[in-house]
Amino acid sequence: MSTPTVTAARPMVEIRSVHKSFGPLEVLKGVDLDVRAGEVAVVLGPSGSGKSTLLRSINHLEKVDSGTVSVDGTLVGYRRSGDKLYELREREILRQRTDIGFVFQNFNLFPHLTVLDNLTEAPVSALRRPKKDALATAVKLLERVGLADKADAYPRQLSGGQQQRVAIARALALEPKLLLFDEPTSALDPELVGEVLDVIKDLAHQGTTMIVVTHEIGFAREVADTVVFMDGGRIIEQGPPGEVLDNPRHERTKSFLSKVL
Ligand code: ADP
Ligand code: MG
Repeated sequence: MSTPTVTAARPMVEIRSVHKSFGPLEVLKGVDLDVRAGEVAVVLGPSGSGKSTLLRSINHLEKVDSGTVSVDGTLVGYRRSGDKLYELREREILRQRTDIGFVFQNFNLFPHLTVLDNLTEAPVSALRRPKKDALATAVKLLERVGLADKADAYPRQLSGGQQQRVAIARALALEPKLLLFDEPTSALDPELVGEVLDVIKDLAHQGTTMIVVTHEIGFAREVADTVVFMDGGRIIEQGPPGEVLDNPRHERTKSFLSKVL
C-alpha cells in the first residue's frame, strides 16, 4: 500500500496581518488571505473597502505598514533575516514584479507602441529575452486572446475590450506565477464585457492562479474557487461561491449582494 501524499506546499499567495494607512486613513485593518496555486479568488466589496490597495500591496505598487505578503514563498519587497525584515532594492523589486501580472481597469497599454511592441517590451527590457523569442511568444499570445490580426495596430485603434485583451496578453508575456485583475471590465461598454471575461475564464480553466477584483457576480459564481468579501478594510467573509454568494452569513455581505445582484 502506498503512503498517502501529504501536500505541505505553501500557498501561492500568503497575506498575514496586513495593515496599511494613507495618512490618518486606515485602509487595510489586518488582512489575512491565502490563495493556492491554480486557484481563482474573486474579491468583492463596496467602493473604498480596500480592494485595490490589497491587490497593489501584492505587486509592490503599495508598501504595507505592517504584516507580510509573500508570493510563492518569497516575501514581497522584503528579505527576512532572523526576526528583522529588510527592504529590497529597486532592482530586486522590479525582478520580483515580473512574477506577478497586473491587469488594470483602464488597460494602461503604452499608447505609442503597437500591440506587438506592447507585448515584447517587458520581456526584452526586464527579462532580457532575445527579441526574436519575445516576438514569437507575443504572436502566440495574441492568437490566444483572439487578436492575431491586430499585431500592428496601436491601442487607440482598438475597442476597449480589445485593449483589455491585449493587456491580458501583455501580462502573460512575462509568464507570471500569479495574475492580478483590478476591475478588468469596469471601464468597458456592457457589450464588450463578455469577450474579456471569456479570456479570463479560459485562463482559469488552464490553472492560472488569479486574484480578480470584480463586481461581476455571474463570473464569480462560475470561475471562483474562493469568493472574498471585503468591507471597511477587512475581509468580512470568504468561502466557496455557493456559500458566500448564495448563503452569506454576514449582514454586510447580504446587503452588498442585494445591491449588485
Ligand atoms: P476599493 O478598490 O475597494 O474601491 P481602494 O483600495 O482603492 O478601495 O481605496 C480604499 C480607501 O483608500 C479609499 O478611501 C481611498 O480613497 C483611499 N486611498 C486609496 N489610495 C490612496 C492614496 N494613494 N492616497 C490616499 N488615499 C488613498
Ligand atoms: Mg478599486
